[in-house]
Amino acid sequence: MSGQQTAAPDPYFPANGDSRYRVHRYELTLDYRPGPNRLAGTARLSAIAGRAPLTEFQLNLAEFKIGRVLVNGRSPHYTHRGGKLRVRPAKPLPAGAAFTVEVHWAGNPKPVRSPWGGLGWEELTDGALVASQPVGAPSWYPCNDRPSDKASYQISITTPSAYTVVAGGRLLTRTAKASTTTWVYEQSAPTSSYLVGLSIGRYQTVLLGAPGLEGVPQAAHLPAHLLSQFSRDFARQPAMMQLFEELFGPYPFGEYTVVVADEELDVPVEAQGLSLFGANHVDGVRGSERLIAHELAHQWFGNSVSIADWRHIWLNEGLAKYAEWLWSEHAGGRTAQELAAGAHRQLASMPLDLRLSDPGRKLMFDDRLYERGGLAVHAIRCALGDVAFFRMLRDWATVHRNGVVTTAAFTAHVTRYAAQPLDELFSAWLHETPLPPLPTPAATAQPPLPEVPRVPARPGYPPRNGGSAGLGGSSA
Ligand SMILES: [Zn+2]
Repeated sequence: MSGQQTAAPDPYFPANGDSRYRVHRYELTLDYRPGPNRLAGTARLSAIAGRAPLTEFQLNLAEFKIGRVLVNGRSPHYTHRGGKLRVRPAKPLPAGAAFTVEVHWAGNPKPVRSPWGGLGWEELTDGALVASQPVGAPSWYPCNDRPSDKASYQISITTPSAYTVVAGGRLLTRTAKASTTTWVYEQSAPTSSYLVGLSIGRYQTVLLGAPGLEGVPQAAHLPAHLLSQFSRDFARQPAMMQLFEELFGPYPFGEYTVVVADEELDVPVEAQGLSLFGANHVDGVRGSERLIAHELAHQWFGNSVSIADWRHIWLNEGLAKYAEWLWSEHAGGRTAQELAAGAHRQLASMPLDLRLSDPGRKLMFDDRLYERGGLAVHAIRCALGDVAFFRMLRDWATVHRNGVVTTAAFTAHVTRYAAQPLDELFSAWLHETPLPPLPTPAATAQPPLPEVPRVPARPGYPPRNGGSAGLGGSSA
C-alpha cells in the first residue's frame, strides 16, 4: 500500500521522483566487488501508471553505463543524463495500467554530493555502506526517488565470500559458490527508496536480547574488535524495543538489525528495519545511547509512517527526538521535562528563523529542527495530558502504519484527542519562528508528569535503572 500520492514534485528536490506513476516492487540483482568498487545490477520494477496515460516517465539513476532498458519486455526510447533516466515506451501506457521496467547498469558507484556530505553508496576502506537520506538512493539503483512512493524490495547481492552483506528485511538465502556468496533479502513492508540500507563488510554477528525470548528478532553486525564495547553500549536496546512497542504499538517490521561500520560516521542513519552506526558511536560507556533510541524510534516515525514530501521532515525527527527523551525518562535518566528545558535554553540562544512545518531544504537537518521538533511534541503532551497524549501517539503510528502523512494530517489527528482547540499551539510551534515559552504540564488538569507507562519486566532484559541519555551532538 503506497498511501496517498502527492501530485506535485517534491518542493525541496524537484529533480527527484516522478508522480505520474508509482512502483510497488523492486527486484534488484547486484554483483559487487569491493576492491575495484565495481557494481553491476539488474533492476526489475513492477509499477502502475497514474491517472493519465504515460507517454514517458523518469527514474533517478546516477552516472552508470546502461546496458539495457525494457518496458513490458520491449525496448523503449530512453536517455540518461544528469542523474535522470527518461523512458519513452514504444506505446503509451494506459492510465492505471500495470507495467514492468527492467534496467541493466554497471559502473563504479559513488556518493551523491550534497550540503550534508556524500549520500548513498559509499566505498569504505574495506567494504561499502549505503545511507541515502534524503536523495542518495540513485547512487546505486534506478528508482522513483520520492519518500511517498513506497514499495517492497527483494535484493540479491553477490560479493566475495569474506564479506557479510546486510540489508533491511529477512535474509531468504545465502548461497556460497567457489569464491563468492549470494545473499538474498526480502523486505515485504512498503519502503521509501531512501530507506533501502545496505552494508558490506567483515563483520561478526551477534543477537541482542536473551536467547529464546519472544519478541522482535534483533541482530547486530560489527567488526570483531568492537564486540566488548558494543555489548555494553547496546545492552539496553531490547528494553528500548519493549518500551517503544508499549508506547507506539507493535514494532512495524519483521526484524531489527544494527550495523556498526568499521569507520567513523558523522551521524547514525536509519534505514528500513536497519540502523547504521559508526565505530565512533561505540565507546563502551553508553555515550551514544540516546542515538540508539533515536534510530530505533524512526522505525515507527519516518520508516513505517512516512512523510509525503521533505517539507514534513520534522514529523520524523521531532518524534524520534522525543523518543530519546521518553527513553531517558523511563531509564531513570533526566525526565522529558528536564530535557525539554535544556533544549529550550539551547534554542533561545540561537537564531530563530526556522519554521518547523516547512524549514526549507537548507535547514531540513539543522540541529534546531530536531530540538524544536522534540519541544513541539512536548508542548502537545503538556496540552493533552499523558493519558490522551500516549493514546494519540500510539494511534498515530497504528492508523498510518505503512502509510504516508503530512503535518496537516498530524495536527488534525492530535486535535481529536484535545479537550480544547490547539490552533494557537500549532501556529506558535509549527508555523511561526519565534520561540514560545517552555511548555509545562498544566498543574490543575493532571498530576505533574506521571511516569511513562512501565513495561512489565520480562526475564533476561538488562536492568533499566541508572545511566542517562542527554542532549548534545547532532543526530540523524
Ligand atoms: Zn533522525
